Amino acid sequence: MSANTVAVLESVQRFLARHHGLYIKGSWQPSASSTRLSVFNPADGLQISSSADANEADVDKAVASAWRAFTSGVWANMLPAGREKILLKFADLVEQNSEELAQLETLEQGKSINISRAFEVGCALNWMRYTAGLTTKISGRTLDVSIPMPEGARYQAWTRKEPVGVVAGIVPWNFPLLIGMWKVMPALAAGCSIVVKPSETTPLTLLRVAELASEAGVPDGVFNVVTGSGAVCGRALTEHPMVAKVSFTGSTATGKGIARAAADRLTRVTLELGGKNPAIVLKDADPAMVIEGLMAGSFLNQGQVCAASSRIYIESPLFDSLVSGFEQAVKSLSVGAGMDTNTHINPLVSRTHQQKVASYLDDAQRNHAELITGNNGPTGEGYYVTPTLVVNPAAELRLNHEEVFGPVVNLVRVKDAEEALRLANDTEYGLTASLWTRDLQAAMSYTSRIQAGTVWVNSHTLIDANMPFGGMKQSGSGRDFGPDWLDAYTETKSICVRY
Ligand code: NDP
Repeated sequence: MSANTVAVLESVQRFLARHHGLYIKGSWQPSASSTRLSVFNPADGLQISSSADANEADVDKAVASAWRAFTSGVWANMLPAGREKILLKFADLVEQNSEELAQLETLEQGKSINISRAFEVGCALNWMRYTAGLTTKISGRTLDVSIPMPEGARYQAWTRKEPVGVVAGIVPWNFPLLIGMWKVMPALAAGCSIVVKPSETTPLTLLRVAELASEAGVPDGVFNVVTGSGAVCGRALTEHPMVAKVSFTGSTATGKGIARAAADRLTRVTLELGGKNPAIVLKDADPAMVIEGLMAGSFLNQGQVCAASSRIYIESPLFDSLVSGFEQAVKSLSVGAGMDTNTHINPLVSRTHQQKVASYLDDAQRNHAELITGNNGPTGEGYYVTPTLVVNPAAELRLNHEEVFGPVVNLVRVKDAEEALRLANDTEYGLTASLWTRDLQAAMSYTSRIQAGTVWVNSHTLIDANMPFGGMKQSGSGRDFGPDWLDAYTETKSICVRY
């Protein structure tokens, strides 16, 4: 163990040792299922805790609790300022417990404790407070109407935004706390109740956060957490007839299945899915800025980021010097356990995912791709993958068009911006992209030609609570964040009065 390894807090050790149940109606409930799901530390592959493996009966109980809380009006009809105050207190409690949450996150997910502190908890707090503020900004419009009958009658109309009902939140394993808050907070701010399901790989932080929500004053039944497999628990939740809206982040394949099932009941769905995100580097770009920005954009959280840059197209005059720059940068990354504050690259989330990412590199090697590798991870049972640059991969390689979701990035030489744009858009995905240039004219004209929900210029992966985020094409539907975020959690009701 390195001298930079963070000591695990006693409160974290106690939490890991608990026999976690399901958080339903403001308290811990045993699961109806007797099986448990193991939680592993990705740094050494050892089991650190376990969670309940909820079945359909458990999900039914959680949704019924959310439904009762919703229809009682205890939350939906609370004055907006009352809800806002409770949600701000909720954020304060998360902040007070931030080190505990950051450690839990690193221990179950693998990421650097530095990232857990700054992004997972730090950004979750930003989003929590921003979203709490939206509670008191919900508004409709007054509408002058011209209804022609009976002759002489006058009408006045207005719209109201009403909470949609029970929300199902499905949270992936790459940012369990942050993305968890992206489901919980807009639902609560809008006045909905929620049942949220974290990934079976990373259930712990949301279980801890549920207790903090109750402590802040969120009424019983408004915020419920069920843990279990996607195939049983996730499916039962998203297909439950009392669920009015599903908010899902994860793979395109699972997202499509959820959308298909939702179509039967016309359940509202927001889908934030995968990406194969391009970065286009023009010949006038600032090389130091490109390397700093795209190393972070590609390798943050070991590349397990839906918005990560994974295909970098570089105009020919800059290509060779940038490849050397990236090579130097990738070889300087230290690889090790997330609890070691001096490491840059940490294990992937699970053995299954490690094997999936490794299979892309095996495929590239078998096909004689040019690979530039960084440092290897520690030997042993940790789920490490060596950070790798793939230089000019052949078009037919899987890693050219499939989402790898690991510390692997393609560097591709292009002759000009037109070729880069064509290749960048040649994908079924459309989540994010970036353009690197000092030429304002190029920035203004090319950004509108890139097919992606978010396009950055001279940065990548920088998201903000006030900036809408979501995908085009197969990267999803709907937008999260921004001033209109709660629209997806409310129904617009028109009220029309004759006078
Ligand atoms: P999934 O899409 O299967 O999992 C994401 C979430 O959905 C998890 O909470 C999972 O639960 C849940 N889930 C799985 N099946 C269902 C279902 N039928 N109904 C409801 N919920 C379900 O992704 P994987 O974990 O299998 O990862 C595969 C790939 O997806 C990755 O390699 C990556 O490319 C991409 N991905 C993208 C993410 C993003 O941020 N856009 C996040 C995660 C993955 P459980 O884990 O318990 O099975």
